[in-house]
Amino acid sequence: MLTLNSDITKINRVGATTANRLKRLDLSTVYDLLLYFPFRYDDFRQITPIEKLPPNRSANIVGQIELIQNKRSPRKRMYITEALVSDKTETIKIIWFNQPFIARNLRVGDKVSLAGKVEDDFGGLVMMSPIYEKILQGQAIHTQGLVPNYHLTANITQKQITFIIKQVVGLSNQIVDWLPFEVKKRQKLLNINSAIRKIHFPASFNDIDQARHRLSFNELFLLQLQSQLIKRELQSSQADIVTFQEKATKKFVASLPFILTNDQKKAAWEILKDLAIDKPMARLLEGDVGSGKTIVAVMAMLNVALNKKQSVLMVPTEILAQQHFNSISKLLAKTKIKIGLLTRSAKCINSQDKITKNKLLELIKTGEVKIIIGTHALIQEKVEFKNLTLAIIDEQHRFGVEQRKMLVKKSSSPLSLTRRGAKGEVMPHLLSMTATPIPRSLALALYGDLDISIIRQMPKGRKTIITQVVSEDKRKQAYDFIKQQIKNDRQVFVICPLIDFSDKLGVKSVKEEFKKLNEQVFPDLAIGFLHGRMKGKEKEVVMRDFLDKKIKILVATSVVEVGVDVPNATIMMIEGADRFGLAQLHQFRGRVGRAEHQSYCFLFTDSLVERSLRRLQALVDCFDGFALAKMDLKLRGPGEVYGTMQKGFPQFKIATLFDYELMKQARDEATKIINQNPSLTNWPVLKHKLEKLNKAIHLE
Ligand code: ADP
Ligand code: MG
Repeated sequence: MLTLNSDITKINRVGATTANRLKRLDLSTVYDLLLYFPFRYDDFRQITPIEKLPPNRSANIVGQIELIQNKRSPRKRMYITEALVSDKTETIKIIWFNQPFIARNLRVGDKVSLAGKVEDDFGGLVMMSPIYEKILQGQAIHTQGLVPNYHLTANITQKQITFIIKQVVGLSNQIVDWLPFEVKKRQKLLNINSAIRKIHFPASFNDIDQARHRLSFNELFLLQLQSQLIKRELQSSQADIVTFQEKATKKFVASLPFILTNDQKKAAWEILKDLAIDKPMARLLEGDVGSGKTIVAVMAMLNVALNKKQSVLMVPTEILAQQHFNSISKLLAKTKIKIGLLTRSAKCINSQDKITKNKLLELIKTGEVKIIIGTHALIQEKVEFKNLTLAIIDEQHRFGVEQRKMLVKKSSSPLSLTRRGAKGEVMPHLLSMTATPIPRSLALALYGDLDISIIRQMPKGRKTIITQVVSEDKRKQAYDFIKQQIKNDRQVFVICPLIDFSDKLGVKSVKEEFKKLNEQVFPDLAIGFLHGRMKGKEKEVVMRDFLDKKIKILVATSVVEVGVDVPNATIMMIEGADRFGLAQLHQFRGRVGRAEHQSYCFLFTDSLVERSLRRLQALVDCFDGFALAKMDLKLRGPGEVYGTMQKGFPQFKIATLFDYELMKQARDEATKIINQNPSLTNWPVLKHKLEKLNKAIHLE
């Protein structure tokens, strides 16, 4: 008997190989499969008579195989399977590439349903590489109706996963709905089991809408519930007062090599005001890449340190931690404040550089080190503080709600953040920083638990980054331009979608591109590479060499997307640009143009698809990250955007940032539920769900 918890290998016709492939998509149980939602649907609800097939459109036909055979194309060393299929009205040619097995699966006389694009081949119509399905009896599921598309890795096909999910979708009856009945009733939401059924096998677009609505509501509601519970917790606890050190702060600001923007001043002021109160701050500092959030954070940490208390700055990557450590140490050099760096591979303190882990932990415990910069390692190492007063999370979207919560969570906190105070538990003030460029109203709806400061102004003197989609025939020109820039002492980023060569996809990889640039294109220039699979030490060396201009061109994966600051870099060249979300591309672009030099962003793509080119063109004209994210959603659909663009945003599976109304409804419902019964004991299933969520920690 299959249940929700059954391992996928228990499903009919799922063997070890398929199971392993599915596990790579994090699908291990029946339940996981049910929650693996399609991102798009093909509309094959109409069967088109062959004589009525329109060219250059997708369609579904049903007919009989008249002829089927394999050929080899002599020049391209490729298998071509050709078939003729007829219905009562007409005959059409079908072509598949490199799938010779099809000629074995389909025989002359078979009745088939085919769905695919029809192209005009010099007057005759051809259906190119359609999905096919033998019709034995009843309705086809892969080629007829609204056919779901799932995000898959190369070795699993849409047909396979649809077939597997079809077998288990009935088990959605066993899912216990944790959403309180009254909420469902008020919001007129589908039951969870019909939502799951309809998201996989909808009969109409209305079904899809309703199912998405319900499943998005789930995500937004939980987020709101969590947020509001945190807020309650914060309000009932106490925080250390940090008195504003006016003289020292002014002196520090005067020592900077630039003048703060008004927005930076305002944000700093809002934060310092919060710190001076004995209730924990919960503030979000939002500002587009390059707007200068770090310095604002430093002003806060400086004040905390001068109050003889500790701050921690947690960042998502080792590179970023190292970089913050270097630049903050420099900024605060005159103050003699001890600053520590703690990541998995690096333990440093500013006055003496390298240090043993135990020594560093001890200095943090005794309170000698006042500012601690680090990654998740901070949580894993169970660091003990003397008097942690301010916790800052940089690029907070990179951390899940869970981790955010963990940093402030009282009892179960692995960081010993809390102490007993006179008026209750003492919590640190919390500052989250994000480059997610969302409007204030939306940020409020989404992070209702936080106060918000926004930096809109860019520092003076920044020039607009010249952005271009570059076609393959202009590649040489682009390389010449790069040579020129490097001659002028500037530096270059080259971003690739993958680390290793992948023949399946034909997508550029860091290793290949590095080899090509290093050996053929720029043999006399120093080139380095950087990707997430390198050791922390290796990454650090490369980053340092790039900062010291020992490396002129850095070939990297999206690891440079977040926060890395190399003001001297002026060219951002992106290979396979169509494989990234627009908001993510905008983040990459933000890595250049961080100083007074004119900077450039070149977008390369082999995709000739009109839609991809149009999408990239948006980046040329638009510098508003939020507008770009929104455009992406419109052009690619919510599911498609998930995973790539979403990187810059909270990790929703199905909800989007643009479900503003739904967000507000979810917020109101969460408020109602909490007001009614803050301990949630009235809804044990919901309570359990939330507890499980709070425990789930996603480490990098
Ligand atoms: P982000 O908001 O993306 O974290 P950073 O804090 O890294 O941005 O700042 C980007 C760059 O701008 C840094 O090199 C920083 O020193 C510089 N910077 C910050 N504020 C100003 C300012 N007011 N004027 C000029 N440059 C500034
Ligand atoms: Mg930053």
